[in-house]
Amino acid sequence: MGDLPEQEEEMPVIFIGHGSPMNALEQNEWSLKWQELGRTLPRPKAIVCISAHWLTRGTYVTAMPQPRTIHDFGGFPRELFEMEYPAPGAPGLAEEVRAAVQSAQVGSDKDWGLDHGTWSVLAQMYPKADIPVIQFSIDYHKPPEYHYQLAKELRFLRKKGVLVLGSGNIVHNLGMINMSGAAYDWAIDFDERVTSFLERGDHQGIIDYQSLGRAALLSVPTPDHYYPLLYAAGLAGVRNQVSFPTTGVSLGSASMRSVLFES
Ligand code: ZN
Repeated sequence: MGDLPEQEEEMPVIFIGHGSPMNALEQNEWSLKWQELGRTLPRPKAIVCISAHWLTRGTYVTAMPQPRTIHDFGGFPRELFEMEYPAPGAPGLAEEVRAAVQSAQVGSDKDWGLDHGTWSVLAQMYPKADIPVIQFSIDYHKPPEYHYQLAKELRFLRKKGVLVLGSGNIVHNLGMINMSGAAYDWAIDFDERVTSFLERGDHQGIIDYQSLGRAALLSVPTPDHYYPLLYAAGLAGVRNQVSFPTTGVSLGSASMRSVLFES
């Protein structure tokens, strides 16, 4: 997988609001759109995923030839635990990523694999699991600006036909799940304000999301699901076109908005 040649066209970058792991199995408004994206985006040579579910001290990239499927959740049906996503890894590409990132020392990981932030989405987008996938971890001890800047060092991947996928949720508050489904006002408010920043290319606005006050505190009680958006935005830069293939709020407090950046 190493030494992918450069190509003229830059690959898009996508952030996907993954929501419940059940989206891996269900046919709903979001998963159907993920399927469509898999059919309509330029076919990637490989995928690099920044998942909300791989938080580390320091930064790592998965480097095994055959990553395992990690079932990192509880309380879901057996069918979900039995699901496998047997995409190959890409040790050569992992090495390229390690070499390209200068501002951080990126470690080579042989233990992780594909967590559900990655496979619940990819099982819908690329059900054949025939595209190599690696994950890039989130150093959870660093501030928002750090992640946005670090992402810029991954831009070279777009010229190599690699799809970078940020998988999280712009609004994610598990403690406030509302089974009746109605979205909280603060969830709608925060989702709309981040959308407006993205539409205007105001990336400082999304980096400084904490300045949005109460809506930010409730929508991003912990930043794990928000940071993948900063990676996608950092990889895109402010001149890319922005569109939103999926929108909506699931269970009251999970924004299902996805963001597609295209040059
Ligand atoms: Zn999640």
